[in-house]
Order: sequence, then structure tokens, then C-alpha cells
Amino acid sequence: MHEVSICESIIDILKQQAAARGKARVTLVRLKIGEMAGVVEDSMRFAFEVVSKDTLAEGAELVIDLVPLMARCKACGADFPIEGYAFSCAVCGSPEIEVVSGRELMIDEIELEEP
Ligand SMILES: [Zn+2]
Repeated sequence: MHEVSICESIIDILKQQAAARGKARVTLVRLKIGEMAGVVEDSMRFAFEVVSKDTLAEGAELVIDLVPLMARCKACGADFPIEGYAFSCAVCGSPEIEVVSGRELMIDEIELEEP
């Protein structure tokens, strides 16, 4: 389950952030996860709970914002959601599209508490 190693990286970042700001506890973590990031939300929550145990993030609220898979057509400039793995423009049918969101996996916000 690669959610575990992702959560371990997140905990490392939280430790660095807390140390840099002189805080002792993490109370909230907000993640942005793209539809195509290859992460399962339930697995992520479970992994975070396990990995954060006995760390400064134990008991922190985990908020997950799911980001839809969106693309922009290079031919007509339309923005549209990609559904059913149809990687062509929904408006003009051009295959010249670029994915603009939906692959992100990032920490959007961290709330820290004083020692
Ligand atoms: Zn188009």
C-alpha cells in the first residue's frame, strides 16, 4: 500500500514545518489529491492514522480535497473534465490536449498548535 510511504513523507514535512515555526503539534492537515494521483482516499485516511500514531500529528484532522481530472484543448482552448479516459477534446474532438489538474498530491494547508 503506497499510501503508507506517502503518509511517512507527509509526516516528515509536518515535522520540518513544526520545527521551523516552533510549534509542537499538528491539529489539521489539508491535502489536495487528484483523481489520477493513484491514491485511494480511504486508504490514505487509514495510513495517516497508523503512521501519525506517536508523532506530533497524532489525532490531527485530515481533510482531503479531491481534484477532478481536467484538461485544456490546445486546438480550441476549451477546458473540460476528462471522463471515461477519453483523452480528446470534449468540444472539438482534437487529441491535442494537456492535463491541467487531477494528478496533484500535495499538502495545501497545515494548522499547528503552540507547545
Ligand atoms: Zn478542442
